Amino acid sequence: QPAKKDMPNYPGLERWSLIEKIGDGAFSTVYRASDTKSEFNEVAVKVMRKYEMNDKQKQKLVKEVEIARKLKHDNVVQLIDSSETRQYSYMVLELCPGGELYHQITQLTSLDESLSRNVIKQVAKAVKYLHETMGIVHRDIKPENILFYPKSGTVGPEESNIGVVKLADFGLSKMICGVPTMTPCGTMGYAAPELCREQKYTTGVDMWALGCLLYTMLGGFPPFYDEDFQVMARKVLRAEYTFASPNWDPISPEAKDLISGLLAVRPEERLNIKEFLAHPWIRQTSESQPPSE
Ligand code: ADP
Ligand code: MG
Repeated sequence: QPAKKDMPNYPGLERWSLIEKIGDGAFSTVYRASDTKSEFNEVAVKVMRKYEMNDKQKQKLVKEVEIARKLKHDNVVQLIDSSETRQYSYMVLELCPGGELYHQITQLTSLDESLSRNVIKQVAKAVKYLHETMGIVHRDIKPENILFYPKSGTVGPEESNIGVVKLADFGLSKMICGVPTMTPCGTMGYAAPELCREQKYTTGVDMWALGCLLYTMLGGFPPFYDEDFQVMARKVLRAEYTFASPNWDPISPEAKDLISGLLAVRPEERLNIKEFLAHPWIRQTSESQPPSE
């Protein structure tokens, strides 16, 4: 299958024929592509333009690939292959044909509680894997970085299963506690308290982001927003948000309690991933679903 005419030809990427552009970033472009050997094998190729980056940005790129290489989880976008040339760095990723969760939110204004629960539980499983198993903080959890495989059929209130949700984009991710170990901090018997506090502090940023995500899914708009960036920053620093009428009127108190547990100013007062997964709203099963676990 020859490469599509209007698609660029990148050096060293001959195995994949680019089909269409599906994403854009500051230094990167993401394409849907197929294997030249078998056109059924579709992937996403993230092309990163090294020639536009300074040294620090190039270092971050190396980190991103390094971290992506270590990850293997159903709710994390899988890295299939990576390579680079002088000018470019490539990541061949498992394709998520449903695209960004962002589009779902903007399409439906807000997701109902059971659909939001389904989505956030899957994101939380990825976060649990990152925090507890890998010792990694994602640091950029937001709708644009949450992709999915749609379940056949439509997405809507009566269908509380959106499909498989996957966390993407490890460009801002960080390894904590040095080399990840099976039990985080397990090999840190000699580490000072502030090192463990540092870990708690950093994983907390993902929990805050989960709170913002859940708020946005249920309410249809983000918790902190102002056209003036200064005003917005002040709202974030004070965790100044409201469950405003009318959007929030029908939302359950349990859901609001969970959001409040995540959007706490002090990271140590924020729920961690274990507490999040144990929260009554998360453990609740919707009426239409048979009880699980
Ligand atoms: P950036 O670091 O530039 O934000 P991302 O890795 O987040 O790059 O990719 C940018 C966008 O490309 C995503 O928001 C998404 O829309 C799309 N994208 C990335 N990876 C995939 C994938 N595996 N499947 C489908 N779309 C993807
Ligand atoms: Mg991104």
